[in-house]
Amino acid sequence: MAIRLPLVVANWKLNGDRQLLTEMVQSIKELDAEKVETVLCPPYVYLNENTDGVKKGAQSVAIQESGAFTGEISGRMLRDVGCQYVIVGHSERRAMFGESNDTVAKKVLATLAAGLIPILCVGETDEQREAGETIAVITEQVKSVLDVLPNYSDSIVIAYEPVWAIGTGKTATSEQAEEVHLAIRKILAGYSQELADLTRILYGGSVKPDNSEELFSKENIDGGLIGGASLDVEAFTNICKNA
Ligand code: PEP
Repeated sequence: MAIRLPLVVANWKLNGDRQLLTEMVQSIKELDAEKVETVLCPPYVYLNENTDGVKKGAQSVAIQESGAFTGEISGRMLRDVGCQYVIVGHSERRAMFGESNDTVAKKVLATLAAGLIPILCVGETDEQREAGETIAVITEQVKSVLDVLPNYSDSIVIAYEPVWAIGTGKTATSEQAEEVHLAIRKILAGYSQELADLTRILYGGSVKPDNSEELFSKENIDGGLIGGASLDVEAFTNICKNA
């Protein structure tokens, strides 16, 4: 079994400022990069800041490369300012900005075409879980992307984020999360065993310092995508230390 370096990603959403970025960078620089990889995803305008070697990612990307698309930011531009990752298909983008599985797949392709690593977010709603549809929903979300990938040697990251756990304070139990992570790993194996072995599958949804250790102890949970707690330097750094 290949070794997957744990990855912890901060999703600031529409929050944060330069001051927080400076403080976060200082704290992350002190972590052991051989034990955990850390990525900061602040709003676009802060991606041009010098983060002193700390990795940066965007929260979304345009499908198009360039042209008359007012307000959009392309993968090439993100790469130009030193980004390495892009969060794609976050549930807030799916729910509030109408991003379908098809749009998400196109954004993953645009991300890879720019030489960046997509962090593909998938997750079921409360109603879908109650109806017993969790694995079916996740399978469709993952397959709609994998089916259009030109090859399986590009690096991708998948984040399982149950919608009912995002920003709600409700976390999936480590058993609930591990069950879905294992299902995702099996879907990946259906395309390529190497892809299944190498792809990091992150958990996201109200991760805090005190629940992160238990979640990250599971075999198929390779780190986290952190929202609220990534705006607190001490909390985020402690989550990274638990990965
Ligand atoms: C997220 O937005 O990706 C997220 C997981 O948020 P939170 O940690 O606040 O639930």
